[in-house]
Amino acid sequence: MNVPHRQFAKTVRVARQDCFNPVQLKIVSGAREHAASLVSDYYRVAPREWLQMPYEVRTLRSLDSSEVTDAALAQTVCYAFRRQAGSVVVKEGDLFRICLQDHRILGALRDLDLGLRSLLTYVLIHELVHVVRFGQRLQSIDLPQELRSHEERKVERTTRTILAKAGDATIDRIPSGAESVCQQHQARREGRHPLAYSTE
Ligand SMILES: [Zn+2]
Repeated sequence: MNVPHRQFAKTVRVARQDCFNPVQLKIVSGAREHAASLVSDYYRVAPREWLQMPYEVRTLRSLDSSEVTDAALAQTVCYAFRRQAGSVVVKEGDLFRICLQDHRILGALRDLDLGLRSLLTYVLIHELVHVVRFGQRLQSIDLPQELRSHEERKVERTTRTILAKAGDATIDRIPSGAESVCQQHQARREGRHPLAYSTE
């Protein structure tokens, strides 16, 4: 997807017009639910197991400046988290934060014959396939750069299969080719920051 983009200054200042408005945020919620149901069906993850999936979805207004990018529609960042009660570690593990780039998504819509819900469903399915593959150790979060395009092609194929199975014709209106997704996604592991779960 060849969408022109502009650079943010080092300290990102998010303009209100770059962020989803309240109506669009409701569409994000619906698309998130729909994408999660399609991905969990595809991987046959039981609902109770899916609830344990350590991921959250954030939109531009609640991203840290380091999570904002102009090179992608979304990026998934892996954080190590630790929950402590006093000195006792109650739980620790990886948390996958799907960071939606509102400004890029809204910009992409201008070039596509697609509605926001359809584009978001596509983007969220793609990111959730990554989350499942990382979470189930089907793929490593620390994948070397040279192997990433292979992984992206795989995730893109799976995303298209999931949408096709659901009878969603969205995919026909999204340009095919690895590049359209490779450049839209980055995953990286941050240091072992203790983080609490939080979901919008
Ligand atoms: Zn990707």
